Amino acid sequence: MHTGAFCDIAWDKDGKQTGFISFPYSIDRSPYYQIKVPVCRIANGEGPGLVLMAGNHGDEYEGELTLLKVMRLLEAEAVTGSVTILPATNLPAVMAAKRCSPFDGGNLNRAFPGDPAGGPTHRIAHYVEHDILPRHDVLFDIHSGGTSMDHLICSLIERMPDPARQEKAVALLGAMRMPYGMIADNGPDSPTSMAAALRAGCIGLSGEFGGGATATPRTMAMTALAVDNLLLALGITKKRLLTDSDVETETRIISQGPQSFFVYAERQGWFEPAVDIGDIVAAGDIAGWMHDLERPLEPPEELRFRAGGVVLSRRLHTHSQSGDSLFNVAELVE
Ligand SMILES: [Zn+2]
Repeated sequence: MHTGAFCDIAWDKDGKQTGFISFPYSIDRSPYYQIKVPVCRIANGEGPGLVLMAGNHGDEYEGELTLLKVMRLLEAEAVTGSVTILPATNLPAVMAAKRCSPFDGGNLNRAFPGDPAGGPTHRIAHYVEHDILPRHDVLFDIHSGGTSMDHLICSLIERMPDPARQEKAVALLGAMRMPYGMIADNGPDSPTSMAAALRAGCIGLSGEFGGGATATPRTMAMTALAVDNLLLALGITKKRLLTDSDVETETRIISQGPQSFFVYAERQGWFEPAVDIGDIVAAGDIAGWMHDLERPLEPPEELRFRAGGVVLSRRLHTHSQSGDSLFNVAELVE
């Protein structure tokens, strides 16, 4: 079965092409409506194939804006191999400035491998995993914390089953020269783009570049650096496209810990953090205090870290409910 999508790109053609992947989705306002996901392909002869993807979540802007710059600035003559750019992959979510799609509530990064007969989010996931990724060697899917979360700037890979691919992935993780490089371990069956890349035979790279549904000069600069360094490391470009120079950063490798590395709210309250992202914490340190505006005289509940490491993410919204992740800590790998 097929998603019914139409794609404007001729995959075998050299040069720069822009167009859409169009997913028919009949709605009240427009019986023949199509979700038009923008796509750009810049190809020049034999060489590595890279997918640059953003807008997996619609409220994470560094990747979306950076990939527009790549689309405008990169010409085929400057490329060896090919780059396919998806700046707004879950387009309905991007247009709504939300993490998930307003059409079906779908979170694209929980929808892989997708479903050709499913809702829009699952059809987009299916197309990316089955029609786009297998034509390429590497995927770089650019994220940040989104509306409710701030995230430490880091490049990211999933642990790969075969050692050769793992070695290459770790080398590319470091080549991006982010302050931290995270190795996650969600397995090849997970519903994320990284597992999709694994299943499609690609090296999956990702990264987190900020948060709070905004973009700052620093988060934009770091995203540009990661994209430029990756293009150079793969040999797709020979010259810097988005940045003037490299930075001398040794990437500190961190790894995703088990559940004990999270601090969760277990009741409604108003959370006051004691630390910020990037802080180094130890097991037993105070993470913060849960206040209760409905019980003004009650002392706040003290929440502590159960594991030590670097603070990776922090909830930005003070008002919290049971089940909200307040902090995530990553293990520092020696
Ligand atoms: Zn994201």
